[in-house]
Amino acid sequence: MIEITSNFDGGNIEVVEALRPEAIRVRIRKDNNSHFFQWFYFRLTGAQKHNVRITIENAGEAAYPEGWKGYRACVSHDRESWYRVPCEYDAEEGTLTIHFRPEHDVSWVAYFTPYSMERHADLIASAGMSPAVRVRSLGQTIDGQDIDMLELGGLGRGVTPKKIWMIARQHPGETMAEWWMEGLLDRLLDGNDPVSRALLDKARFYIVPNMNPDGSRRGHLRTNAAGVNLNRAWANPDPETSPEVFYVRKAMERIGVDFHLDVHGDEALPWNFIAGFEGVPSVTDEQLALLNRYKTALARLNPDFQTEHGYPVDEPGSSDLRKCTDWVAENFGCLAMTLEMPFKDNADAPDPVFGWSPARCRHLARSCLDALYEVIDDLG
Ligand SMILES: [Zn+2]
Repeated sequence: MIEITSNFDGGNIEVVEALRPEAIRVRIRKDNNSHFFQWFYFRLTGAQKHNVRITIENAGEAAYPEGWKGYRACVSHDRESWYRVPCEYDAEEGTLTIHFRPEHDVSWVAYFTPYSMERHADLIASAGMSPAVRVRSLGQTIDGQDIDMLELGGLGRGVTPKKIWMIARQHPGETMAEWWMEGLLDRLLDGNDPVSRALLDKARFYIVPNMNPDGSRRGHLRTNAAGVNLNRAWANPDPETSPEVFYVRKAMERIGVDFHLDVHGDEALPWNFIAGFEGVPSVTDEQLALLNRYKTALARLNPDFQTEHGYPVDEPGSSDLRKCTDWVAENFGCLAMTLEMPFKDNADAPDPVFGWSPARCRHLARSCLDALYEVIDDLG
Protein backbone atom coordinates (compact mmCIF):
# COMPACT_ATOMS: atom_id res chain seq x y z
CA MET A 1 0.00 0.00 0.00
CA ILE A 2 1.55 3.30 -1.02
CA GLU A 3 0.41 6.84 -0.29
CA ILE A 4 1.29 10.18 -1.84
CA THR A 5 0.41 13.37 0.02
CA SER A 6 1.21 17.07 -0.37
CA ASN A 7 -1.11 18.79 2.08
CA PHE A 8 1.67 20.59 3.95
CA ASP A 9 3.69 23.83 3.87
CA GLY A 10 4.93 24.22 0.29
CA GLY A 11 3.42 20.95 -0.96
CA ASN A 12 2.25 20.55 -4.54
CA ILE A 13 1.13 17.46 -6.46
CA GLU A 14 -2.05 15.82 -7.76
CA VAL A 15 -2.17 12.04 -7.86
CA VAL A 16 -3.49 10.44 -11.03
CA GLU A 17 -2.66 6.87 -10.02
CA ALA A 18 -0.55 5.44 -7.21
CA LEU A 19 -1.29 1.72 -7.04
CA ARG A 20 2.23 0.37 -7.56
CA PRO A 21 5.58 2.09 -6.73
CA GLU A 22 6.83 1.17 -10.23
CA ALA A 23 4.01 3.02 -12.02
CA ILE A 24 3.04 6.19 -10.16
CA ARG A 25 1.39 8.92 -12.23
CA VAL A 26 1.05 12.50 -10.95
CA ARG A 27 0.43 16.04 -12.19
CA ILE A 28 1.74 19.38 -10.90
CA ARG A 29 -0.98 21.78 -9.77
CA LYS A 30 -1.07 25.27 -11.31
CA ASP A 31 -0.38 28.34 -9.17
CA ASN A 32 -3.73 29.69 -7.98
CA ASN A 33 -5.44 31.91 -10.58
CA SER A 34 -2.49 31.49 -12.94
CA HIS A 35 -1.17 29.25 -15.71
CA PHE A 36 2.30 28.88 -14.18
CA PHE A 37 3.49 25.62 -12.65
CA GLN A 38 6.72 23.66 -12.22
CA TRP A 39 7.31 23.47 -8.45
CA PHE A 40 6.46 20.06 -6.95
CA TYR A 41 6.89 18.74 -3.44
CA PHE A 42 5.27 15.63 -2.01
CA ARG A 43 5.67 12.73 0.38
CA LEU A 44 5.70 9.11 -0.74
CA THR A 45 5.11 6.41 1.86
CA GLY A 46 5.41 2.65 1.51
CA ALA A 47 7.99 2.17 -1.24
CA GLN A 48 10.96 0.86 0.75
CA LYS A 49 13.25 -1.29 -1.45
CA HIS A 50 11.05 -0.83 -4.51
CA ASN A 51 12.17 0.57 -7.83
CA VAL A 52 10.09 3.73 -7.69
CA ARG A 53 9.06 5.28 -10.97
CA ILE A 54 7.04 8.50 -10.77
CA THR A 55 5.84 10.11 -13.99
CA ILE A 56 4.82 13.77 -13.98
CA GLU A 57 2.32 13.69 -16.82
CA ASN A 58 2.01 17.45 -17.42
CA ALA A 59 5.74 18.28 -17.26
CA GLY A 60 5.74 19.36 -20.91
CA GLU A 61 3.16 22.09 -20.19
CA ALA A 62 5.19 23.52 -17.27
CA ALA A 63 6.41 27.12 -17.33
CA TYR A 64 9.93 26.16 -18.52
CA PRO A 65 10.07 22.75 -20.23
CA GLU A 66 13.78 23.48 -20.92
CA GLY A 67 14.18 23.14 -17.17
CA TRP A 68 13.60 19.36 -17.39
CA LYS A 69 16.53 18.70 -19.75
CA GLY A 70 19.45 17.42 -17.70
CA TYR A 71 17.42 17.90 -14.52
CA ARG A 72 17.62 15.56 -11.50
CA ALA A 73 14.95 15.63 -8.79
CA CYS A 74 15.65 16.17 -5.06
CA VAL A 75 14.83 13.38 -2.59
CA SER A 76 15.18 13.20 1.20
CA HIS A 77 14.32 10.71 3.92
CA ASP A 78 15.43 12.67 6.98
CA ARG A 79 14.20 16.08 5.65
CA GLU A 80 17.70 17.48 6.23
CA SER A 81 19.82 16.00 3.50
CA TRP A 82 18.43 16.11 -0.06
CA TYR A 83 20.17 14.12 -2.76
CA ARG A 84 19.60 14.04 -6.49
CA VAL A 85 17.98 11.18 -8.36
CA PRO A 86 17.89 10.54 -12.11
CA CYS A 87 15.02 11.76 -14.27
CA GLU A 88 14.09 11.19 -17.85
CA TYR A 89 12.36 13.89 -19.84
CA ASP A 90 10.34 12.73 -22.83
CA ALA A 91 9.85 15.93 -24.84
CA GLU A 92 7.44 14.28 -27.27
CA GLU A 93 5.14 12.92 -24.56
CA GLY A 94 5.79 15.91 -22.32
CA THR A 95 6.47 13.67 -19.33
CA LEU A 96 9.18 13.65 -16.68
CA THR A 97 9.91 10.33 -15.00
CA ILE A 98 11.73 10.22 -11.67
CA HIS A 99 13.58 7.01 -10.66
CA PHE A 100 14.96 5.91 -7.31
CA ARG A 101 15.05 3.01 -4.90
CA PRO A 102 14.44 4.17 -1.32
CA GLU A 103 15.98 2.36 1.65
CA HIS A 104 13.29 3.86 3.92
CA ASP A 105 9.51 3.82 4.15
CA VAL A 106 9.08 7.57 3.71
CA SER A 107 10.57 9.64 0.88
CA TRP A 108 10.14 13.37 0.29
CA VAL A 109 10.43 14.43 -3.34
CA ALA A 110 10.81 18.05 -4.52
CA TYR A 111 11.84 20.25 -7.45
CA PHE A 112 14.56 21.79 -5.24
CA THR A 113 15.33 21.47 -1.51
CA PRO A 114 12.22 23.05 0.03
CA TYR A 115 12.36 26.10 2.28
CA SER A 116 9.21 26.08 4.40
CA MET A 117 7.44 29.03 6.00
CA GLU A 118 8.17 27.35 9.34
CA ARG A 119 11.88 27.55 8.57
CA HIS A 120 11.36 31.16 7.46
CA ALA A 121 9.80 31.90 10.88
CA ASP A 122 12.84 30.33 12.56
CA LEU A 123 15.18 32.42 10.40
CA ILE A 124 13.41 35.65 11.34
CA ALA A 125 13.26 34.62 15.02
CA SER A 126 16.94 33.74 15.26
CA ALA A 127 18.07 36.91 13.43
CA GLY A 128 15.71 38.94 15.63
CA MET A 129 17.51 37.66 18.74
CA SER A 130 20.56 39.68 17.73
CA PRO A 131 20.61 43.10 19.37
CA ALA A 132 21.94 44.48 16.07
CA VAL A 133 18.80 43.50 14.13
CA ARG A 134 15.43 45.22 13.89
CA VAL A 135 12.59 43.11 12.53
CA ARG A 136 9.84 45.00 10.71
CA SER A 137 6.58 43.68 9.38
CA LEU A 138 6.03 45.96 6.38
CA GLY A 139 2.44 44.80 5.97
CA GLN A 140 0.38 41.68 5.39
CA THR A 141 -0.04 39.41 2.44
CA ILE A 142 -3.40 38.40 0.97
CA ASP A 143 -3.39 35.22 3.09
CA GLY A 144 -2.57 37.31 6.19
CA GLN A 145 1.14 36.55 6.62
CA ASP A 146 3.78 39.10 7.60
CA ILE A 147 6.03 40.67 4.98
CA ASP A 148 9.25 40.56 7.01
CA MET A 149 12.16 42.93 6.65
CA LEU A 150 15.37 42.77 8.70
CA GLU A 151 17.39 45.95 9.26
CA LEU A 152 20.93 46.06 10.56
CA GLY A 153 24.14 48.07 10.52
CA GLY A 154 25.07 51.62 9.66
CA LEU A 155 24.76 53.06 13.13
CA GLY A 156 28.38 54.26 13.42
CA ARG A 157 28.84 57.97 14.15
CA GLY A 158 30.06 60.40 11.53
CA VAL A 159 29.17 58.36 8.42
CA THR A 160 26.11 58.41 6.24
CA PRO A 161 25.46 54.71 5.78
CA LYS A 162 24.97 53.27 2.30
CA LYS A 163 21.53 51.75 1.88
CA ILE A 164 21.89 48.14 0.85
CA TRP A 165 18.76 46.20 -0.19
CA MET A 166 18.63 42.46 -0.68
CA ILE A 167 15.39 40.65 -1.44
CA ALA A 168 14.64 37.03 -2.33
CA ARG A 169 11.93 34.67 -3.46
CA GLN A 170 9.64 36.98 -5.40
CA HIS A 171 9.16 33.67 -7.21
CA PRO A 172 8.34 31.32 -4.35
CA GLY A 173 9.37 28.07 -6.06
CA GLU A 174 12.93 29.44 -6.26
CA THR A 175 13.74 28.20 -2.77
CA MET A 176 17.50 28.44 -3.42
CA ALA A 177 17.03 32.17 -2.95
CA GLU A 178 16.08 31.77 0.71
CA TRP A 179 18.88 29.24 1.32
CA TRP A 180 21.14 31.99 -0.02
CA MET A 181 19.58 34.36 2.55
CA GLU A 182 20.55 31.97 5.36
CA GLY A 183 24.19 32.16 4.29
CA LEU A 184 23.96 35.93 4.03
CA LEU A 185 22.50 36.39 7.52
CA ASP A 186 24.86 33.83 9.07
CA ARG A 187 27.81 35.81 7.86
CA LEU A 188 26.43 39.28 8.56
CA LEU A 189 25.60 38.26 12.13
CA ASP A 190 29.02 36.75 12.80
CA GLY A 191 30.57 39.40 15.02
CA ASN A 192 34.06 38.01 14.34
CA ASP A 193 33.84 38.24 10.56
CA PRO A 194 35.99 41.17 9.47
CA VAL A 195 34.15 41.75 6.17
CA SER A 196 30.76 41.78 7.88
CA ARG A 197 32.00 44.14 10.54
CA ALA A 198 33.40 46.55 7.95
CA LEU A 199 30.20 46.40 5.87
CA LEU A 200 28.00 47.00 8.91
CA ASP A 201 30.11 50.05 9.75
CA LYS A 202 29.63 51.52 6.31
CA ALA A 203 26.12 50.43 5.44
CA ARG A 204 22.63 49.76 6.68
CA PHE A 205 21.14 46.57 5.29
CA TYR A 206 17.45 46.18 4.43
CA ILE A 207 16.81 42.49 3.88
CA VAL A 208 13.57 40.83 2.76
CA PRO A 209 14.33 37.08 2.91
CA ASN A 210 10.97 36.07 1.47
CA MET A 211 9.00 38.40 -0.80
CA ASN A 212 6.26 35.85 -1.39
CA PRO A 213 5.15 34.01 1.77
CA ASP A 214 1.74 33.06 0.34
CA GLY A 215 3.14 31.50 -2.81
CA SER A 216 5.74 29.71 -0.67
CA ARG A 217 3.17 28.14 1.62
CA ARG A 218 0.79 27.34 -1.22
CA GLY A 219 3.47 25.49 -3.18
CA HIS A 220 3.50 27.94 -6.11
CA LEU A 221 6.23 28.29 -8.69
CA ARG A 222 5.94 31.91 -9.63
CA THR A 223 2.97 33.87 -8.25
CA ASN A 224 1.36 35.10 -5.04
CA ALA A 225 -2.07 34.10 -3.67
CA ALA A 226 -3.84 36.20 -6.31
CA GLY A 227 -1.85 34.67 -9.16
CA VAL A 228 0.28 37.81 -9.66
CA ASN A 229 3.89 37.47 -10.82
CA LEU A 230 5.44 39.91 -8.35
CA ASN A 231 8.43 40.55 -10.58
CA ARG A 232 6.10 42.19 -13.10
CA ALA A 233 4.34 44.38 -10.53
CA TRP A 234 6.97 47.01 -9.63
CA ALA A 235 5.81 49.79 -11.98
CA ASN A 236 2.36 49.87 -10.47
CA PRO A 237 1.89 47.60 -7.45
CA ASP A 238 -1.66 47.18 -6.19
CA PRO A 239 -2.24 46.90 -2.41
CA GLU A 240 -5.09 44.45 -3.10
CA THR A 241 -3.41 42.04 -5.52
CA SER A 242 0.34 42.63 -5.00
CA PRO A 243 0.67 43.95 -1.42
CA GLU A 244 4.14 42.36 -1.14
CA VAL A 245 5.59 44.69 -3.78
CA PHE A 246 3.39 47.61 -2.73
CA TYR A 247 4.80 47.64 0.82
CA VAL A 248 8.42 46.88 -0.04
CA ARG A 249 8.44 49.53 -2.77
CA LYS A 250 6.96 52.05 -0.32
CA ALA A 251 9.77 51.27 2.15
CA MET A 252 12.38 51.70 -0.60
CA GLU A 253 10.92 55.09 -1.54
CA ARG A 254 10.97 56.19 2.08
CA ILE A 255 14.51 54.94 2.83
CA GLY A 256 16.33 55.17 -0.50
CA VAL A 257 18.51 52.58 -2.28
CA ASP A 258 22.27 52.66 -3.04
CA PHE A 259 22.64 48.96 -3.90
CA HIS A 260 20.05 46.34 -4.70
CA LEU A 261 20.26 42.60 -5.17
CA ASP A 262 17.17 40.52 -6.07
CA VAL A 263 17.83 36.79 -5.66
CA HIS A 264 16.23 34.18 -7.95
CA GLY A 265 16.61 30.72 -9.44
CA ASP A 266 16.61 29.79 -13.12
CA GLU A 267 14.93 26.60 -14.30
CA ALA A 268 16.89 26.08 -17.51
CA LEU A 269 20.43 27.51 -17.28
CA PRO A 270 22.92 25.40 -15.27
CA TRP A 271 25.04 28.33 -14.04
CA ASN A 272 25.09 31.14 -11.50
CA PHE A 273 24.91 34.55 -13.16
CA ILE A 274 23.79 38.14 -12.70
CA ALA A 275 21.36 40.03 -14.91
CA GLY A 276 21.71 43.81 -14.89
CA PHE A 277 19.66 46.81 -15.98
CA GLU A 278 21.40 47.77 -19.23
CA GLY A 279 18.14 48.66 -20.99
CA VAL A 280 16.72 51.23 -18.54
CA PRO A 281 16.17 54.73 -20.01
CA SER A 282 18.40 56.66 -17.60
CA VAL A 283 21.30 54.17 -17.41
CA THR A 284 24.70 55.81 -16.79
CA ASP A 285 28.27 54.73 -17.50
CA GLU A 286 28.98 54.89 -13.76
CA GLN A 287 26.19 52.41 -13.03
CA LEU A 288 27.42 50.05 -15.74
CA ALA A 289 31.02 50.27 -14.51
CA LEU A 290 29.88 49.29 -11.00
CA LEU A 291 27.85 46.40 -12.42
CA ASN A 292 30.87 45.15 -14.28
CA ARG A 293 33.15 45.50 -11.26
CA TYR A 294 30.72 43.65 -9.01
CA LYS A 295 30.29 40.72 -11.40
CA THR A 296 34.02 40.48 -12.10
CA ALA A 297 34.84 40.53 -8.39
CA LEU A 298 32.28 37.84 -7.62
CA ALA A 299 33.58 35.58 -10.40
CA ARG A 300 37.11 35.96 -9.03
CA LEU A 301 35.99 35.28 -5.44
CA ASN A 302 33.79 32.25 -6.05
CA PRO A 303 34.33 29.61 -8.78
CA ASP A 304 30.59 28.80 -8.66
CA PHE A 305 29.88 32.21 -10.22
CA GLN A 306 30.67 33.15 -13.82
CA THR A 307 30.01 35.91 -16.35
CA GLU A 308 30.03 33.98 -19.63
CA HIS A 309 26.54 32.44 -19.57
CA GLY A 310 23.32 34.25 -18.70
CA TYR A 311 20.39 36.14 -20.18
CA PRO A 312 20.89 38.24 -23.32
CA VAL A 313 21.69 41.83 -22.31
CA ASP A 314 18.76 44.25 -22.90
CA GLU A 315 19.21 46.69 -25.78
CA PRO A 316 19.22 50.36 -24.73
CA GLY A 317 15.67 51.49 -24.01
CA SER A 318 14.23 47.96 -24.05
CA SER A 319 13.94 47.48 -20.31
CA ASP A 320 10.81 46.23 -18.55
CA LEU A 321 10.21 48.64 -15.67
CA ARG A 322 7.67 46.24 -14.18
CA LYS A 323 10.70 44.15 -13.10
CA CYS A 324 12.23 44.92 -9.75
CA THR A 325 15.85 45.33 -10.86
CA ASP A 326 14.98 47.63 -13.77
CA TRP A 327 12.55 49.67 -11.68
CA VAL A 328 15.09 50.14 -8.86
CA ALA A 329 17.96 51.00 -11.24
CA GLU A 330 15.81 53.56 -13.05
CA ASN A 331 14.28 55.17 -9.97
CA PHE A 332 17.32 55.31 -7.71
CA GLY A 333 20.11 55.56 -10.31
CA CYS A 334 21.99 52.88 -8.37
CA LEU A 335 23.56 49.48 -8.92
CA ALA A 336 20.69 46.97 -9.09
CA MET A 337 21.07 43.31 -10.00
CA THR A 338 19.20 40.04 -10.34
CA LEU A 339 21.20 37.05 -9.12
CA GLU A 340 20.15 33.77 -10.73
CA MET A 341 21.11 30.36 -9.32
CA PRO A 342 20.40 27.04 -11.05
CA PHE A 343 17.75 24.48 -10.18
CA LYS A 344 19.99 21.89 -11.84
CA ASP A 345 23.66 22.33 -11.03
CA ASN A 346 26.65 24.45 -11.92
CA ALA A 347 27.70 22.77 -15.18
CA ASP A 348 31.27 24.09 -14.71
CA ALA A 349 31.64 22.33 -11.33
CA PRO A 350 28.95 19.68 -11.06
CA ASP A 351 28.21 17.78 -7.86
CA PRO A 352 26.97 14.28 -8.77
CA VAL A 353 25.33 13.68 -5.37
CA PHE A 354 23.66 16.97 -4.45
CA GLY A 355 23.69 19.13 -7.59
CA TRP A 356 23.25 22.81 -6.82
CA SER A 357 22.47 22.67 -3.11
CA PRO A 358 21.55 24.76 -0.06
CA ALA A 359 25.15 24.56 1.18
CA ARG A 360 26.45 26.02 -2.07
CA CYS A 361 23.76 28.75 -2.03
CA ARG A 362 25.01 29.77 1.41
CA HIS A 363 28.62 29.95 0.23
CA LEU A 364 27.64 32.07 -2.76
CA ALA A 365 25.86 34.52 -0.44
CA ARG A 366 29.03 34.85 1.64
CA SER A 367 30.99 35.64 -1.53
CA CYS A 368 28.36 38.23 -2.54
CA LEU A 369 29.28 40.11 0.66
CA ASP A 370 32.98 39.95 -0.26
CA ALA A 371 32.15 41.41 -3.69
CA LEU A 372 30.04 44.10 -2.03
CA TYR A 373 33.00 44.96 0.18
CA GLU A 374 35.03 45.65 -2.98
CA VAL A 375 32.57 48.25 -4.34
CA ILE A 376 30.92 49.66 -1.22
CA ASP A 377 32.91 52.90 -1.07
CA ASP A 378 31.88 53.79 -4.61
CA LEU A 379 28.13 53.28 -4.19
CA GLY A 380 25.56 56.07 -3.93
ZN1 LIG B 1 12.69 34.20 -10.47
